[in-house]
Amino acid sequence: MAEKKAFASKFIAAPGKKFSLAEHDPRDDSAFDDKDKTKEQLLKDAAAIDGLQDRLFAEGKRALLVVLQGIDCSGKDGTVRAVFNASGPLGVTVKSFGVPSEVERAHDYLWRVHQACPAKGYIGVFNRSHYEDVLVVRVEKLAAADAIERRYDEINAFEKLVANSGTRILKFMLHVSKEEQAARLQERVDDPTKQWKFKAGDLATRAKWADYMAAYETAISRCSTEHAPWHIIPADRNWARNAAIARIVREALEEMNPQYPLPKDWDPKAVKIL
Ligand code: ADP
Repeated sequence: MAEKKAFASKFIAAPGKKFSLAEHDPRDDSAFDDKDKTKEQLLKDAAAIDGLQDRLFAEGKRALLVVLQGIDCSGKDGTVRAVFNASGPLGVTVKSFGVPSEVERAHDYLWRVHQACPAKGYIGVFNRSHYEDVLVVRVEKLAAADAIERRYDEINAFEKLVANSGTRILKFMLHVSKEEQAARLQERVDDPTKQWKFKAGDLATRAKWADYMAAYETAISRCSTEHAPWHIIPADRNWARNAAIARIVREALEEMNPQYPLPKDWDPKAVKIL
């Protein structure tokens, strides 16, 4: 188990420490030795997550929340597909957070987030999250500076509440390089099956790359906690990204070790069906 924990710890941004993205290479694949073997392992980990999710659901007492954040083309959708498709829709909920609706804007910024948190027994995946409220909102100055400043502590307190209520929280920053993003955007422009994903706004966001990365550094520095750690995932190589996240999710579920409940008030040996 100690060795397993060591895998996740390779990626965790140390709580309470100033975090710098410059120390993290988006192409780093040193956690894995071989691409083909790693892809095989990913399939095994995804299948194991499915089995563990079944136990989590049967136990019905706890939940797992997986937060995926990353700039456009960092591979959030691809991660969901690779890590959770084997689990199917029965016990996994996926919530994407876009520009808040009028109703959402009429509430505090965590209102829509709290509602989307997984119920006991479920794995919930956030495709973007409440961190947009300190990322795009900070870069584009969509809220007052002092209100944004308060949000880091508010988010930590909110995540503590969710964790104290039985939900394990794992946060992943999909760390893609500016060069790799350019290649992926170009592919979206060129490939007719991907053109639907391209939005002119993506280029405006790309033009503010340094501001976004600074906002990520602040968010990760202030909100990587023991109860909700940030993992920095090198995301230039899809296979390494998927494999790292699957492994960390699997290990967290194994640590949670959900149990099938024993029958209450009846004895399986005493039941005769035929
Ligand atoms: P994606 O790019 O994740 O595939 P979309 O194209 O729907 O999905 O983009 C979602 C957009 O919504 C992003 O530009 C994101 O910054 C924006 N967004 C998400 N949450 C907020 C928020 N709280 N305030 C403003 N914009 C937000």
